Amino acid sequence: MVPLPFRVTKRRRELADTWTLELEPVGGERVLPAPGQFTMLYAFGIGEVPISVSGDVSGPLVHTVRAVGAVSRAICASEPGAVLVRGANATVAGLQCTDWSWTEDGEKHTLHLWTGPINAERGK
Ligand SMILES: Cc1cc2nc3c(=O)[nH]c(=O)nc-3n(C[C@H](O)[C@H](O)[C@H](O)COP(=O)(O)OP(=O)(O)OC[C@H]3O[C@@H](n4cnc5c(N)ncnc54)[C@H](O)[C@@H]3O)c2cc1C
Repeated sequence: MVPLPFRVTKRRRELADTWTLELEPVGGERVLPAPGQFTMLYAFGIGEVPISVSGDVSGPLVHTVRAVGAVSRAICASEPGAVLVRGANATVAGLQCTDWSWTEDGEKHTLHLWTGPINAERGK
């Protein structure tokens, strides 16, 4: 797939070292990620790392990133207006979906919980 530039539109701090970024395609072409999908995210001149999609697929592309090294620090420091590049994407294998449904005030709600393997090498 062709790498595409994405502009940071929002940046929110979640924890001391963790930020959530919302990204919109510079060319306007939206992406519709699948559950468990991750993106290779490139910070200009620094490098590229795999980062999972952490938002609703119908909105902007959302990534939540923990600053642990050079690339993730650069991504976390990207202010609104900065451009990052979305490269190849793939989906984590072995995902399972568990659904919980309940009714509240006469309205049916369903929670889809997707779970998958973690990066065992790092034990996180
Ligand atoms: C499929 C996939 C999806 C991922 N999704 C996300 C995501 O949504 N958000 C996110 O923040 N990261 C995610 N990661 C992890 C992220 O790609 C790595 O943290 C990446 O190596 C960071 O690159 P870096 O150059 O900033 O740091 P590096 O130079 O690679 O690492 C710097 C130091 O931090 C250590 N380190 C690396 N990653 C972690 C970690 N997660 N926890 C603790 N220590 C670590 C390294 O061992 C090294 O000592 C994902 C990884 C994979 C494989």
